[in-house]
Amino acid sequence: MPRDYYEVLGVSKDATKDDIKKAYRRLARENHPDVSEDPKEVAEEKFKEISEAYEVLQDESKRKLYDQHGHAGVNQQFRGGGFSWDDFTHFDDIRDIFGGSGGSIFDMFFGGSRRPKNAPAQGESLRYDVTITMTDVLNGRDEEIQVPKTSNCHDCNATGGRDGKVNVCEQCGGSGQVQMVRNSPFGRIASVTDCPKCGGSGKTFKERCPKCRGSGRVSKTNTVSVSIPKGAEDGMRLRLQGEGDAGFNGGPPGDLYVVIRVRDDKRYEREGINLWADIVTTYPRLVLGGSEDVVTIDGETAKVTIPPGTQVGAVLRLPGKGLPKFRGNSRGDMFLRVRIDVPTRVSEEERECLRKLDGNAGTKRSKGIFGKGK
Ligand SMILES: [Zn+2]
Ligand SMILES: [Zn+2]
Repeated sequence: MPRDYYEVLGVSKDATKDDIKKAYRRLARENHPDVSEDPKEVAEEKFKEISEAYEVLQDESKRKLYDQHGHAGVNQQFRGGGFSWDDFTHFDDIRDIFGGSGGSIFDMFFGGSRRPKNAPAQGESLRYDVTITMTDVLNGRDEEIQVPKTSNCHDCNATGGRDGKVNVCEQCGGSGQVQMVRNSPFGRIASVTDCPKCGGSGKTFKERCPKCRGSGRVSKTNTVSVSIPKGAEDGMRLRLQGEGDAGFNGGPPGDLYVVIRVRDDKRYEREGINLWADIVTTYPRLVLGGSEDVVTIDGETAKVTIPPGTQVGAVLRLPGKGLPKFRGNSRGDMFLRVRIDVPTRVSEEERECLRKLDGNAGTKRSKGIFGKGK
């Protein structure tokens, strides 16, 4: 289990972006292999840990996922469930720390372990939010969603050359990488970099594919069928394997994560599988007993019995009229908070009637702490 990212950077859970950046820069400076007193492998491992923590915490969406789900939440965001150097988006920051633009230490540190550009790699995973209603939670919902994504170009078979015609790069012999020797303050350093001729792909072509302009990839909108299960909760994620961006160099495509958002319902409050609502009735019905009609989430009208002597604020229960359990057969209940409908306008006859009633009630109340009512 990796260490907690906040602990790695030595910042609190509510650290600002700036705090995180400062902590990262300080730690990166202290732990880079040239300065660190640790053996090279240990220093590299430490540096990797620091960078990984920073990578997640500096990105708002990744940080949120990490806060909610821990390491499992963010690892799924990265290729193949693991962490690789290619996931870093903040190379510029590292360059800032070591000075210069891609200086010698940078090359020394990253040159050897970097994956060649022409190696197969999984495509990016994508996220798509679907908003559903409370009724969809009850019934489940099949949805067709339009997902913009990157696909391999069919015209050139993802090679980037017109009609798929490509040549092996002469400069690197197809490996995509060349060795460069440089002078640096630390002496002559040999490093491996992307071949400048082919840009690391190992291939060149006389003519670009006109459809993808040589990239081998095209943007496309895909229609994907999603089956949202009954009982889905807000924030749940469905993983659709292989529906993300196309892979690189024959690598597998990424995944698609469908995030479910459940819209609030004006009529019901959700509490897990139970629903809450108000039931509005009259004073006489509370005293004498009676019934009120209530519309359930199924859209049906249910007659709810109000027992004699029911108090305002009492809770009545309609068993089995809540939401279905996720991946289960049972259903929750519907709870009804009793409220009273106080009329704002009354006729003269009603007024008389109410006065009489209040008079009687007052006599009863007279034994209370407020003394004799009017
Ligand atoms: Zn080349
Ligand atoms: Zn093409």
